[in-house]
Amino acid sequence: MNKHNMTTEKGIPSNSRVLMFGQLEKLNRESMLVDPEIARQITAKVLHLIQTQEKTRKEIMSKGSSGMEVILATLENTQDLQTILNILYILNELLTVGGGRRIGVFVSKGGTGILLQLVIRASKESPPSEEFMLQLHSVLAKVGPKDRKFGVKARLNGALNVTVNLLKQNLQNHKLLLPCLLVLQVYSSNTVNAVSLGKNGVVELMFKIIGPYSKKNTSLLKVSLDTLGALLKSKTNAQRAVVHVPVLLYIYQDWHRNDTRHRHILIRKGILGCLKNITNIKLGRKAFIDADGMRILYNTSNECLPVRTLDPLINTSSLIMRKCFPKNRLPLSTIKSVFHHQLLRVPAGGPVAQLYNQPLGGGPIYQFYTKPPWVDDVVDESDNNEDAEAETDTENEMEEKDRHAGNDDVETDINKLRPKETHSRLFEELKIYERFFMELSEDFQVFNFDNPKRGVTAIPAAPKSHCPIIVPTTQAMPPKTPTAAPLQRECPHPAPVPALDLDTINITKDQDGCGDHTHSRSHPGAGLEQELVQGLERVALDGAGPQGGGGVNKHNRQPPILAGGVAARLGGEGEEMSAEDWAEEEESGEGAVLHVPDTALLLPLHDPDLYVEMVKSTRSVPQFSEVAYPDYFGHVAPTSREHILERVYGVQRTKIFQDIERLIHPNDILDKVVYDLDIQSCTVVDGGESLKFNSQFESGNLRKAVQVRKFEYDLVLNSDINSNHYHQWFYFEVSGMCVGAPYRFNIINCEKSNSQFNYGMQVLMYSVQEAISGRPRWVRTGTDICYYKNHFSRSSIAAGGQKGKSYYTMTFSMTFNHKDDVCYFAYHYPYTYTTLKMHLQKLEALRTPQTYLREDVLCETLGGNSCPLLTITAMPESTSNDQICQFRNRPLVFLSSRVHPGETNASWVMKGTLEFLMGSSPLAHSLREAYIFKIVPMLNPDGVVNGNHRCSLSGEDLNRQWQNPSPELHPTIYHTKSLLQYLAAIQRAPLVFCDYHGHSRKKNVFMYGCSLKETVWETNISATSCELHEDLGYRTLPKILSQMAPAFSMASCSFVVERSKEATARVVVWREIGVQRSYTMESTLCGCDQGKYKGLQIGTRELEEMGAQFCVALLRLKRLTSPLKLRNHAHLLDVESDLMETRCKVSSNPSTYLLEDEEASFMEEVDYSAESGDEPDNDPNTADNHLSESNNHRDSLT
Ligand SMILES: [Zn+2]
Repeated sequence: MNKHNMTTEKGIPSNSRVLMFGQLEKLNRESMLVDPEIARQITAKVLHLIQTQEKTRKEIMSKGSSGMEVILATLENTQDLQTILNILYILNELLTVGGGRRIGVFVSKGGTGILLQLVIRASKESPPSEEFMLQLHSVLAKVGPKDRKFGVKARLNGALNVTVNLLKQNLQNHKLLLPCLLVLQVYSSNTVNAVSLGKNGVVELMFKIIGPYSKKNTSLLKVSLDTLGALLKSKTNAQRAVVHVPVLLYIYQDWHRNDTRHRHILIRKGILGCLKNITNIKLGRKAFIDADGMRILYNTSNECLPVRTLDPLINTSSLIMRKCFPKNRLPLSTIKSVFHHQLLRVPAGGPVAQLYNQPLGGGPIYQFYTKPPWVDDVVDESDNNEDAEAETDTENEMEEKDRHAGNDDVETDINKLRPKETHSRLFEELKIYERFFMELSEDFQVFNFDNPKRGVTAIPAAPKSHCPIIVPTTQAMPPKTPTAAPLQRECPHPAPVPALDLDTINITKDQDGCGDHTHSRSHPGAGLEQELVQGLERVALDGAGPQGGGGVNKHNRQPPILAGGVAARLGGEGEEMSAEDWAEEEESGEGAVLHVPDTALLLPLHDPDLYVEMVKSTRSVPQFSEVAYPDYFGHVAPTSREHILERVYGVQRTKIFQDIERLIHPNDILDKVVYDLDIQSCTVVDGGESLKFNSQFESGNLRKAVQVRKFEYDLVLNSDINSNHYHQWFYFEVSGMCVGAPYRFNIINCEKSNSQFNYGMQVLMYSVQEAISGRPRWVRTGTDICYYKNHFSRSSIAAGGQKGKSYYTMTFSMTFNHKDDVCYFAYHYPYTYTTLKMHLQKLEALRTPQTYLREDVLCETLGGNSCPLLTITAMPESTSNDQICQFRNRPLVFLSSRVHPGETNASWVMKGTLEFLMGSSPLAHSLREAYIFKIVPMLNPDGVVNGNHRCSLSGEDLNRQWQNPSPELHPTIYHTKSLLQYLAAIQRAPLVFCDYHGHSRKKNVFMYGCSLKETVWETNISATSCELHEDLGYRTLPKILSQMAPAFSMASCSFVVERSKEATARVVVWREIGVQRSYTMESTLCGCDQGKYKGLQIGTRELEEMGAQFCVALLRLKRLTSPLKLRNHAHLLDVESDLMETRCKVSSNPSTYLLEDEEASFMEEVDYSAESGDEPDNDPNTADNHLSESNNHRDSLT
């Protein structure tokens, strides 16, 4: 600032300003103001200066200036109207510019209160001075929005009614009306005020001001609408406005028609805002429907679609329409699972007792929970429930609460965080588990070390037992019969079907486990494969038939040349072909031939013949008699990268509008059931107008398909067996498609509130035509994918007494490339129980003489499947004492996976682990020499077989049963825990326990562990009040993984013990077995947002790699945990600093440990932003990657 420039444009020296303020101040101080003329003159001069000089304005508002105090004091003290007016003019000038800062100063000096008192004072004069009120309200309108307490202050001062009365008396006085309305709008934002103003007739008053299209007084109209919108947030006010819904709709249409240049979008938005709040109540929704609101908003929105700036209107319209869309029941008679497995004992109060009204024993609790059989669990009564509407009102608050729920879940009971001394099991009782630990007592006396080949077959291979180990705890159960579990419904085709279904491979169900078995063995491929060949020929020949004139895929019309059928595969010496070769050959045009994929070259663990053998002993509740092609052919991971899909703008909106059209144009809807498991004839034969669906194969779970429009289908998933929910996993088959048609599929009974399908995840598809063309693979596919709350809901009874819950739609679009194709869709890469059995058998064949591998049957499941337990380590080098001693004393590593059937990725990670462990690399050998591995690769075979997402046949989540597993209801958990208890009892608790899972909400791979300290830090327990001694070793393994595995993210790991997790494997093994390194390893179902795979969806290759890297990490852990090495690796194990760093991250991001299987809170209503704040962006740590590479190198040299 130029200090020499002391004069202004008017030539008044600045010291005269100082003088005038000095005079004002003096007058105030002396409380005189006796001569109003002096004050009048001074304030008039100040006003003049302020109007003409920016400098004066700045000076008054500058820091350290007492200008504002002087002005306010004068305002408070003077009784002279002209002086007050002068000051109000001054304030209007001052507060118009300078943004919030000047108003902030004004508010902080008590300005609001003084103005409100003036309002009261002025109201007592009759009639009140119009100019006075105008100026006063103009200042208030500026101050109000910036003063958070404005509404309360106004009410306490009694100013509300003054403004309202002023309005009522001046409805034609537009000059005065505007500032009053602006003030009223601020009043109304306070909920208490809104109710009080409503009682005073303000809602009606607003309806007098608003009206149809006019070029005049648009600002008045806008403010009235915003005020009305604020008032209507109160339910009583909304009720008052219900009668005006037709008016609002009429006005909206009028503005929509006439505001052709879109100059008044805010007015239109204001009208919608009012409708939005009125439709929060049931009466409002009814009035909206009655007034044809759906059609009006649908049509206006469609007309707005081409103009991007009108998006806010479309979004609000869409929100209102979705809210008013009548809630529907699912097209089912009951939401209970189609299939029921009769439990031998139904525990009272358990989920099955609650769900099925069974005439079994049970106390009062059982009766309380059991609902009468006549109650329809599908019908939705949420519209009768006004409480449900409160949700919409408080959605933001709920979201806010949700966000902090993670913290509420942290265990605060310090006793529950300390090791639990369990004496519940006597050692005598556990002793029977000794037989699963033969390696701990093995002396190898009969083992021939000179000729290990002979020795191997003599010892480690032999113990593979095919019978379940019967332990006393299960003796109470009646002997298992070889027949499948009792069924409620008969399967239409329990016996072999003579004519092969085009779409599926039918297998001979070997009920007693012999007979055909040996037959197939001796003549591989004789029966089934002959049928398959026929089936494939039909696939191709159909294409050449009369309907095959499309010519889209010429090669499909060639009769397939299946050299020797499926059994005689390609792959003799010199004939090896990669998938790329096949692809090339396929493109060579005329004369190209079809080859059945020979996955043996690329998939060493896959064998179609063996698969069919294995599937015969797999027991399913629906008694599946078919095998899905993908499981038979196998899956070769594609070589191309599959990027996380970028969400197209407006996808959700378009999909929702298509849904709303169902209501607007009901005649366009076909509503044709094309697949229904609930009725006996499972498939509907059709003249080619509809797709054909099927999912009656292992892990399949489609319940119903309804053709909605020509190319659109609603799909309903089956519930987990013995339950009425858990819909997320899906696996089904589609055929009969038209090439190039834009199909839309909607899975309409999803339950999670959000899904990675909103953040770039695609569904998986397997095309049989692609497979026989040499590309047997699951590929990420689908466009226009999104996930949103739909108009279906279930009854509160079905929802367990809670309010009726809405379902969600997962929708994707798809164009098929091949005619006469059979395609499969899945939530994630399928991995069936039969696949596991096949892989285990093939792995055994990979065993080298140095490998010790034993496969035991831990127990039988409720469904009659066996649960395998593997023991893998290295054979001792000799029978010398030292060697045997080293062998027996190797630390144990205990791994498990697939307790949740829908998390198939966990099985792929486990496959990677098993393949690595059984491999011939020096690294694998070192690993086997370092540890004894105990592995339960599938904790929930029944769930996997039957297409469940979450539960076992007991209708329960097995990973919530670890505290007190029942040998009858949760045998796999009971016996796995017993194995661990046995180990603890003999002082051989494992060094590491890890249970592999899949995560549907987050990206990357990460771990959950258990730490007393980190849990306490998250709570309000003072860490100093309890002495905490904790070894930080639990961080080592995840830290190593983050340094070497590209998909692994340390930032996503959490070591906090949550209350909701106290019965999970991780927490129970930590607390009861005393395993410090007890983990859940979560792999994303979607993809990665950091590291080498950033931006890519995860595939089986990456998952298997993760499983292998887990092994390598264990090897490094071994070195690091050896005391001598520890010091040298201090840099790697800089745990303390790392811990603090993570702690900071964790505190700022409580969602880190939301329930591992819970989706993020999601503002569903309209969300077009793909990734907004969903997951924290983790910068790829290049340093770590570098380290990783060098370390890998070092490892491979060792
Ligand atoms: Zn899980």
